[in-house]
Amino acid sequence: MPTAVETLGLVRSHGPVRAVDGLDLCVEAGELFGLVGPDGAGKTTAVRVLAGLLSPESGQARVLGLELPGQAGEVKRRIGYLAQQFSLYPDLTVDENIEFFSRIHGVADLGPRREELLAFTRLEPFRGRLAHQLSGGMKQKLALACTLIHRPELLLLDEPTAGVDPVSRRDFWRILADLQARAVTVVLTTPYLDEAERCTRVGLMHYGRLIRCDRPGRIKASLPGVLVEIRAGDPHAVHRQLAADPRWRAAHLVGQRLRVRLRDEAGALVDLRSRLEADAEVRVVPPTLEDAFIELIRSQEES
Ligand code: ADP
Ligand code: MG
Repeated sequence: MPTAVETLGLVRSHGPVRAVDGLDLCVEAGELFGLVGPDGAGKTTAVRVLAGLLSPESGQARVLGLELPGQAGEVKRRIGYLAQQFSLYPDLTVDENIEFFSRIHGVADLGPRREELLAFTRLEPFRGRLAHQLSGGMKQKLALACTLIHRPELLLLDEPTAGVDPVSRRDFWRILADLQARAVTVVLTTPYLDEAERCTRVGLMHYGRLIRCDRPGRIKASLPGVLVEIRAGDPHAVHRQLAADPRWRAAHLVGQRLRVRLRDEAGALVDLRSRLEADAEVRVVPPTLEDAFIELIRSQEES
């Protein structure tokens, strides 16, 4: 498989801020790749460089075998880019928005292509509706349809499901899986780590760099120690109590449950139980991607 995206030591600043600071990234053709990381990690800046919209300051960036910034025009023709703040035309209908974007991309067979995209995104029943009257999820599906109009080989989607309800998100992911099955490479950013679990590989960005990049299962498996979940009457009180002790500082609340990572399992587990109320429930649980990322970012910040 050829490489769809490749960067080496990529740097791009906004004024004094080095938003992308030595990014080494490699995405193979056919992947559904997730770029995750805290707010301000540099994801949007990186994606905008890959879309040919910002020039690299130093380092290398290649997309579909084309050099950036030199071949940015060709890159733009062959990719689909969905911006974090993508704007549809609110006073145009679904049909008219697709038509508008097809003109921009010089698509000749608009008629059949539009039908195909409306069917693909299940927006056909809403084709006459004005964009501003669509739900958040439908707007994102229409934005995706507009991004796909010229049959791009690579899609760069910046937080395409942010603020979208869970049902529409599931629908959106079904579309992404369909695209992947049609050999379209997808690179997306997402704040939702449950979504990242569905990616072929995930890259964790932190301060403009990739601090980990692997398949979700491997990232989770590499988390050292054992993870336990505590259910207690007052999880916040238990959290405060444990967080005061450096040994349990990695404790964090997920809903009403407290998750703690133990380094030296057996002794630590006995010790932990002894600090809790008798009715508190403690059980070993498999780590999620979120647990792994919390730990990776914590150890990065400590070093
Ligand atoms: P992310 O998408 O991961 O949240 P961004 O790429 O948007 O990260 O931002 C990375 C860093 O660059 C942040 O510190 C942000 O404040 C800064 N930044 C982004 N865009 C601009 C801009 N247009 N002007 C100044 N600083 C910016
Ligand atoms: Mg962003």
